Amino acid sequence: KELPEDPNTENSRRQVTKACFSYVTPKKTAKPQIIHTSSEMLSALGLTKEDTKSTSFLNIFTGNEILPNTNPYAMCYGGYQFGNWAGQLGDGRAINLAEIEQDNKNWVLQLKGAGETPYSRTADGLAVLRSSIREYLCSEAMHHLGVPTTRALSLGLSGDQVLRDVLYNGNPEYEKGAIVCRAAPSFLRFGNYEIFASRQDNSTLKILVDYTIKNHYSYLGKPSKETYIKFIKEVGDKSLDMVMHWQRVGFVHGVMNTDNMSILGLTIDYGPYGWLEGYDHGWTPNTTDNTNKRYRYGTQPQIILWNLYKLANALYPLIEEVEPLEDILMVYRKKTEDSYLKMMRSKIGLFTEDKNDTLLIDTLETILQKYETDMTIFFRLLANFDSSVVTEDLSLISKAFYTPNQITDTIKEEWKQWFLKYQKRLLKESLNDGERKKVMNTVNPKYVLRNYMAQLAIDEANKGKYELIEEFYQLLKKPYDEQPESEKWFAKRPEWARNKVGCSM
Ligand code: AMP
Ligand code: MG
Ligand code: MG
Repeated sequence: KELPEDPNTENSRRQVTKACFSYVTPKKTAKPQIIHTSSEMLSALGLTKEDTKSTSFLNIFTGNEILPNTNPYAMCYGGYQFGNWAGQLGDGRAINLAEIEQDNKNWVLQLKGAGETPYSRTADGLAVLRSSIREYLCSEAMHHLGVPTTRALSLGLSGDQVLRDVLYNGNPEYEKGAIVCRAAPSFLRFGNYEIFASRQDNSTLKILVDYTIKNHYSYLGKPSKETYIKFIKEVGDKSLDMVMHWQRVGFVHGVMNTDNMSILGLTIDYGPYGWLEGYDHGWTPNTTDNTNKRYRYGTQPQIILWNLYKLANALYPLIEEVEPLEDILMVYRKKTEDSYLKMMRSKIGLFTEDKNDTLLIDTLETILQKYETDMTIFFRLLANFDSSVVTEDLSLISKAFYTPNQITDTIKEEWKQWFLKYQKRLLKESLNDGERKKVMNTVNPKYVLRNYMAQLAIDEANKGKYELIEEFYQLLKKPYDEQPESEKWFAKRPEWARNKVGCSM
């Protein structure tokens, strides 16, 4: 911890050295109001819906009251942003409240948007309702999709106005301020280690690495060079697992900077993320990344490797051997190919291996991208494929086409050829059509938080109506189930929502 000159907590902006975190006090808010809580997270923490009605719940989870015997803090970290070292970043608008043990699980509770910290740099430490709804709904939805992620306990309004944009006529545009309480076993990021390496502060680096291993990777053994090497490998495996889930469900993170890479392999920082609508390896939801598209869907697994390389570099002073680190990175590269193939096989219902599978999958991905085809709808409908008949038309998947009137005879022919190969390939599988459908429907979700859905919930909430937040929260608890009453959300993005992704800050 930072040893404060002034024993009072201190939120002012500064460079913090030789310390992993600084004590801070959340900002008092004008008129706090909790607008949603996650029943799943409540029970994980041993709380009930009844508890959420108390004044202390309201005050604690909007930063107006501190839990007894706790010292809220903000963490110091750096990071490579879009490939460049950015120096000290840190929890600029996140404040860790406390750590709670429940059912043998540890949860750090963290408020996002609760005011300035030493790490706020030029920004205000606040969050607006729009980005908070996006983080709140999506992190819970990701959990139910089976994707490792930070969680969300509550979504609250601060009652304060937050300035994000100045209109073209020079008038400031105020938005409703909001606070999300996030939860995770740890919010440590690659950047937490990189900052000390960049400052050649090996002693603090070692303290933090040893702390991480002791608290989160104790099964790797006592801290030693060998354990540090295993640690990096393990972080790589977890991150690979996470990113393969992203590819499976069509989630695009949008800002895979090393300060947004969890050391536990959790999806963290729901900023300008988005969901693939049309299947497209080149798509990114991040409008500030539109030239290079560094963080586009198709490159996500490679970016993890780039980030791991930076983590390995940061830990090098504790290891002082290059070879084992290079090995880890080489093995990661190979594992990426293998797990991608395995994941894609499962999406099309293949659970054995055939040497032509890569080609079959490549061909599919090419056709999917040529003619804007909705990813979620396509894979869900593919589960209904009848392997006993030759596919004569595209009625099975036509609901997934964004421009059905542009489907020419040539395109139909391409699809027909692919379906023929697919049909042949299925003969080598042991599952029958019904069994295959069942398994495929546990791999390919029916419902995801489509970008326009989040936007609808935001538009309503800005008018003070929160029913859609509740509706989506419930819907996305069971993303793989058929929910006939919600069939309208199993639909392509409407035309008005083209290129509307929402925004990060
Ligand atoms: P991000 O691009 O969301 O990963 O944020 C990068 C850095 O900017 C992190 O250190 C954040 O804590 C900080 N940051 C983002 N938004 C704000 C804000 N409104 N106030 C203070 N810091 C912020
Ligand atoms: Mg971040
Ligand atoms: Mg962010």
